[in-house]
Amino acid sequence: MRRSPEEIAKMRKAGKVVAEIHEKTRAIIRPGITTRQIDAVSREVLERRGARSNFLNYHGFPATVCTSPNDMIVHGIPSDLVLVEGDIISVDCGAIVEGYHGDAAYTAPVGEVSQEALRLMEVTEASLWKGIEQLRDGNRLHEVGRAVQDVAEAAGYSVVRNYVGHAIGTEMHEEPQVPNYWPGTPGPRVKVGNVFAIEPMVNVGGPETVELADGWSVVTADGGLSAHFEHTIAVTDAGPEVLTI
Ligand code: MG
Ligand code: MG
Repeated sequence: MRRSPEEIAKMRKAGKVVAEIHEKTRAIIRPGITTRQIDAVSREVLERRGARSNFLNYHGFPATVCTSPNDMIVHGIPSDLVLVEGDIISVDCGAIVEGYHGDAAYTAPVGEVSQEALRLMEVTEASLWKGIEQLRDGNRLHEVGRAVQDVAEAAGYSVVRNYVGHAIGTEMHEEPQVPNYWPGTPGPRVKVGNVFAIEPMVNVGGPETVELADGWSVVTADGGLSAHFEHTIAVTDAGPEVLTI
């Protein structure tokens, strides 16, 4: 779907709220906090900014953020789990402002972490930015996935196939999907006014995933570390505009 400048202005507002949730939650991440505290910070920002959560009650999800530590890829439920030195934690969250959605994720270190964990986070974030560069008018959408995959695999990592990015607007998840790998076809043309959430999930080991018994949490099948970075991006005449920073 092509969004008008007025619609994108609303999405920019939602994106700013998400960016503030990122900033405020990053600031509390340290050994000894619980993942529920991350959710509490997110709720405080949403409330203060008069925004609604697009995560809370989404198919019954019980929180405003997903918190996914270490080998958990996505969709972790905030709890009394205490983060410890050496963990990495992925935080995914969103906001609705005036009916329009923002969605973004980051992975952060908890205290001092291994060189491998640092490298995984750097590579995953770099793959996101390479993917974002592809969001130019006239380009083919699946060049995003090719770019993400090239960065991740050049580093010796794998890209998750079972969970993908998406268009976003008046719903959090709109068509088309945006794979983080080359799916074998070029996909639709990218047009000015399109808005996408690009979200590589990159694993140190293999790409296979397992959903846990809580019906939400998704972990790596081989137990290896996983990182997740995401932004919401509008395609403009001047190129990609990241709305969630
Ligand atoms: Mg997200
Ligand atoms: Mg998303």
